[in-house]
Amino acid sequence: MTKYGFLGLGIMGNGMAANLVKAGYDVTVWNRSPVKCASLVAQGAKQAKTPEAVTASCDITFAMLADPEAAREVCFGPEGALAGIGEGRGYVDMSTVDEETVKAIAISITTAGGRFLESPVSGSKKPAMDGTLVILSAGDESLYKDAIPAFQLMGKMSSSLKKTGQAARMKLVVNMIMGSMMTALSEGVALCRKSGLNEFQLLEVLSNGALASPMVKGKMPTMLDGVFPTNFPLKHMQKDMRLAVSLGDRLSQPLPTAAAANELFKAARKAGLSDEDFAAVFKILS
Ligand code: NAP
Repeated sequence: MTKYGFLGLGIMGNGMAANLVKAGYDVTVWNRSPVKCASLVAQGAKQAKTPEAVTASCDITFAMLADPEAAREVCFGPEGALAGIGEGRGYVDMSTVDEETVKAIAISITTAGGRFLESPVSGSKKPAMDGTLVILSAGDESLYKDAIPAFQLMGKMSSSLKKTGQAARMKLVVNMIMGSMMTALSEGVALCRKSGLNEFQLLEVLSNGALASPMVKGKMPTMLDGVFPTNFPLKHMQKDMRLAVSLGDRLSQPLPTAAAANELFKAARKAGLSDEDFAAVFKILS
């Protein structure tokens, strides 16, 4: 049976790794703050002291880390994942990062004899727990095939975009749209409130019209309650907007809406909202 490793047990990684453990696989986990390994160890996972120890003992290691800095640190740092990669072993980075980070990790892993796949995901805390993520992959096709049994436990669909860097780009496009939609929704709710309109009626109208979406139905009630349980941390949304705007810069693609939305998320971080849900950007406007 394939031995899986999992690096990074935050909001997403915890649920994703748990689905591998629950299915009966031999899973070894590591997290920078070791305390987050406890619930998975209680479910039957093994705990390793370093990323190197995980990649050295597993056939395929998944990583789900905060941002490009974390992805590089865990791969290239002392006792990092790269140090343990042996001939043919797989490294699947599922973090949302830029293509430069993906390519730097891909080259190092393959030069060391390993196989590399980037596999960022769409979905959030609940889909991670329920195993219903949308997984976008690119890189080593043989590793993609080998990872499919694990992807089927973590997601409701996976697709291969073939060329390294393409999945990172696709994921940034998706999140750029989501971040821009969130700031537009926040402005709409704020204007509705200022206009003396009933915001619950706005929710009803939106939910029954062409703009109906899980995001409107899921996030707008949190704005109206003023409570923002963290499913997707605002600091990660701003990271994705920053990386998308930077991709647009490099490609000379105008992104005026996303650039303005990025400024709002930056203002929200400055206001101390980094660890709240990304819907808390509403607080900057209301
Ligand atoms: P999270 O809860 O903040 O977890 C981040 C993970 O990265 C933690 O395990 C953290 O370790 C680790 N980490 C951060 N900096 C590190 C460093 N320098 N060295 C080693 N480990 C480091 O974030 P998340 O929500 O699970 O998101 C993880 C990734 O998935 C992000 O790229 C995010 O953009 C993406 N994503 C998130 C969602 C969502 O809805 N939450 C959805 C799709 C994609 P500690 O526990 O020690 O801090």
